[in-house]
Amino acid sequence: MKQTIIGLALCAVLAWGVWQQRPEPVHNDVVHRELFALGTLIQISVAGHIEPAVMNQAQAALTDLETRWSVLGDGDLAQLNKTLQTQTSAPLPSTLQAGFAAARQLCLDSGGRFDPGVGDLVRLWGFDDEDHFRTTPPPADQLNAALQQRSSLCDSHIDPQTVVVDQVPARFDFGASAKGRAVDEVIALLQAAGIHNAIINAGGDIKVIGRRAQRAWRIGIRHPRPVDGRTMLASLQVHDGEAIFTSGDYERFFIDNGVRYHHILDPRTGLPAMGSQSATVLHSSAERADAAATALFVAGAQDAASVMQQMGVDSWLLVDANGRLHASDAMRARIPDLASQ
Ligand code: AMP
Ligand code: MG
Repeated sequence: MKQTIIGLALCAVLAWGVWQQRPEPVHNDVVHRELFALGTLIQISVAGHIEPAVMNQAQAALTDLETRWSVLGDGDLAQLNKTLQTQTSAPLPSTLQAGFAAARQLCLDSGGRFDPGVGDLVRLWGFDDEDHFRTTPPPADQLNAALQQRSSLCDSHIDPQTVVVDQVPARFDFGASAKGRAVDEVIALLQAAGIHNAIINAGGDIKVIGRRAQRAWRIGIRHPRPVDGRTMLASLQVHDGEAIFTSGDYERFFIDNGVRYHHILDPRTGLPAMGSQSATVLHSSAERADAAATALFVAGAQDAASVMQQMGVDSWLLVDANGRLHASDAMRARIPDLASQ
């Protein structure tokens, strides 16, 4: 693992050096840059001209956000989690305050289905780090203990310079919303630099501004169980200021005795949420879309409409555990070929 990280870091440094010296690759008047951050390949594409210095700023912002929100290493969140191992109250650095407040509201809006207070459960399941990877579920007594001990972000107090939790040890994991927040921040950075037409693709999760030349940006939603070479569930045009995020049980999982155990946990049971294969949400805020996709996955088909309404989401799409599609009218209007599926 260490070697992989060192290898990746070396590649990043080399790639960075190359990017500093060469003009950005341009295809059909779209300038691209790719980097590895927040656990995924991120592609920033800008239609028209962009100063290399602005691209460099966007890249640096992503690297900085990754360190800030990672549960591993010794960035801001990791240090806060260390304090919360033994103390119920910890100073919240200015870099984390807005993200914590936004996530607490999203936790409440989702009825606790999106809850960064699942940190210890995620760790117990081994989904926080490749080094912790498991091939069987954790023992039931350990799961029950972690479930009883956990502090929900919904119930935590943010003042805003301090966070106070119910009980220790507590651990927050922002894996379900930090990518969305980072995408919003980078889009804002590009806009502040006068860029009006761009798309950020963070491993299939997307936000766009403006258009691609004369056309709207067009994106595909991944099929959770590709069959006969069909890798896309649907495709749609994404318009100025829209984000579209998907949570899927295919991203991180192991199979034991024919059961797929994946990384999206139901905070109420401590177990992977079993009612869905993938959940997609469209919203103007990438942070809300990210959290809501996770919440929709946990909600499953039965609660989908009410939870999405509570979260202020009009356009959503869910593939349930049997592979059946459920979608809001607003999403169906965006994807006419859904009707035939
Ligand atoms: P996503 O792919 O956006 O659905 O985020 C999944 C990641 O968020 C997991 O890898 C965990 O780190 C964390 N996570 C898992 N379940 C939840 C949940 N119910 N609420 C908040 N975060 C979660
Ligand atoms: Mg999410």
